[in-house]
Amino acid sequence: MNSIGVVYNNNHELHDYILKGFPSPESPARLKRILQHFVDNRVLENNNCKVLYPANVSVEDILRVHTADYFSFVQSRSLSGGGWLGNDTYLCEGSFEVLLQAVGSVLEAGKAVVTGQCDHAFALIRPPGHHACADKHSGFCIFNNAAVLARHLQHVYSCQKIAIVNIDAHASDGTQNIFYADPSVLCISVHQDPSDFYPFKGFIREMGSMPALGYTVNMEMPQEAGNPEYSIFFEEVGLKVLEQFCPDLVILECGFDSYYKEKLAKLNLTVDGYYDSVSRLRSRWHTIVLLEGGYHDDLGLLADVVLQALADNRYTKDEVNQVNLLASRQSSCRRIFDNKLNELKKLMSSYWEI
Ligand SMILES: [Zn+2]
Repeated sequence: MNSIGVVYNNNHELHDYILKGFPSPESPARLKRILQHFVDNRVLENNNCKVLYPANVSVEDILRVHTADYFSFVQSRSLSGGGWLGNDTYLCEGSFEVLLQAVGSVLEAGKAVVTGQCDHAFALIRPPGHHACADKHSGFCIFNNAAVLARHLQHVYSCQKIAIVNIDAHASDGTQNIFYADPSVLCISVHQDPSDFYPFKGFIREMGSMPALGYTVNMEMPQEAGNPEYSIFFEEVGLKVLEQFCPDLVILECGFDSYYKEKLAKLNLTVDGYYDSVSRLRSRWHTIVLLEGGYHDDLGLLADVVLQALADNRYTKDEVNQVNLLASRQSSCRRIFDNKLNELKKLMSSYWEI
């Protein structure tokens, strides 16, 4: 069994919309639910996990990604009491400390993997980060955890090439924006079609800019796409690009809102789909998983399944009948998926052997 580092920000409850009176699905209940599931089911013991503790974070770590003005804004706004920032994002008085500890958690997860302490790692953090740009918060996200980790690994540990893969239902627009012209960081995002879905970015035609054309890969999944479509995407595009890019390691932006029970999105991944997606990456590269979105009651189960996939230690059976699930969806789903995948392959074939 692989050894897995697990770290979480234990002060996350200080970032709570109730403290400010703004309703938001991004609440402390999310992470509490996961941690309670871990205790109730002895998940860490079952998966050969080593508990890690968040590293101290320097301002320099954050400023490799975010602008000094934005960092100062977040710090001063939080410490002066916080409030509603717009774009579905809030700050509380304690949020700044939570944000630093979330970053410290992902940096510790990264360190454990690059130094060989663990084969893979899972940072259970909130708030999420993948919509945050260098100078902008958005969609519950304030600091971009994956981007700060990637830059830290390059700067401190001399990692040359990092791949960031997003399987949250929402496109990883902030991460993509930060690395859009940087060929040392490959960004692959597979998400619900953003034509009528937040963040309204992450279209197939967004492929990076010189000198990194082809280093941003976006797959628009039609509504109700699920396990078979994710499998086809990874086999026919995702893994091929990753193998040619040959990253030192993979950072997985793992949102649980692509799950079939998620009310904020309309994708159909099940337990098997999450297990397979993580396993595909884990079996080829050291993988650092970061928690992104996901707002339903099964977050604990899915985080458990991710650890099983990282540890190569499957014991949870998928209770969903795939035949029934596929039969219940719109018949056009696979046709739309095929068309979009062909469009992506055609565009990407200019940069990769696909
Ligand atoms: Zn999401």
